Amino acid sequence: MLPKRILIIEDEKQIARFLELELKHEGYAVDIAYDGWGGLRKIEKYVPDLILLDIMLPEIDGLEVCRKIRQFSEVPIIMLTARDEVTDMVMGLDIGADDYITKPFVIEVLFARIRAALRKRIPLAHNSKVLISGDLRMDLLKHQVFRGKEAIELTKKEYDLLEYLLMNKGIVLTRDQILGKVWGYDYVGDTNIVDVYIRYLRSKLDEAYENKLILTVRGVGYIIREERNEN
Ligand code: CA
Repeated sequence: MLPKRILIIEDEKQIARFLELELKHEGYAVDIAYDGWGGLRKIEKYVPDLILLDIMLPEIDGLEVCRKIRQFSEVPIIMLTARDEVTDMVMGLDIGADDYITKPFVIEVLFARIRAALRKRIPLAHNSKVLISGDLRMDLLKHQVFRGKEAIELTKKEYDLLEYLLMNKGIVLTRDQILGKVWGYDYVGDTNIVDVYIRYLRSKLDEAYENKLILTVRGVGYIIREERNEN
């Protein structure tokens, strides 16, 4: 399964590092920005599954960051606040943050808040355990991929890439979106790797079949064909 990707926007490096380690241990993929602009730049490239947003940030504070994110995205946002920032926290909720937690916090409580925030926003399609396009079936519980009756062996990255494509079936994904979700921000800009892995996937999924499922949208990215199952 693709790990849920969490972006931490926090200027205190120790806290950011602590959160990164704990969240990774819980199975999340984690990215960090140390200031508001840095965070916004990352989100412009690719919107993560959830954002932990510190209120007191240099230059542009967490409230302003939250306001800007809400202009284009409904991504779950949990604000991190100090105890004496209660008014800020209330304002955060008013401008569209989903939740807040005061520092210092118990990590298990934060985990629970994260799970709750993620549950609220999961679209219906993501609850499905089997992803389908035409005769391609991806069983997320059994971790199996079939085209027709043919089982297809994929590496971890190929599997993650296919899962992301199938979850967004019928939607064109840019190379940067794919990089952000499957590889993380560190790779954004280095889009060759996407092309390489698309080639791997095609050789396993499409090459032997007349009906190609992975399509290139020139100058934009890739799309998996939205196809009704003919059965
Ligand atoms: Ca801070």
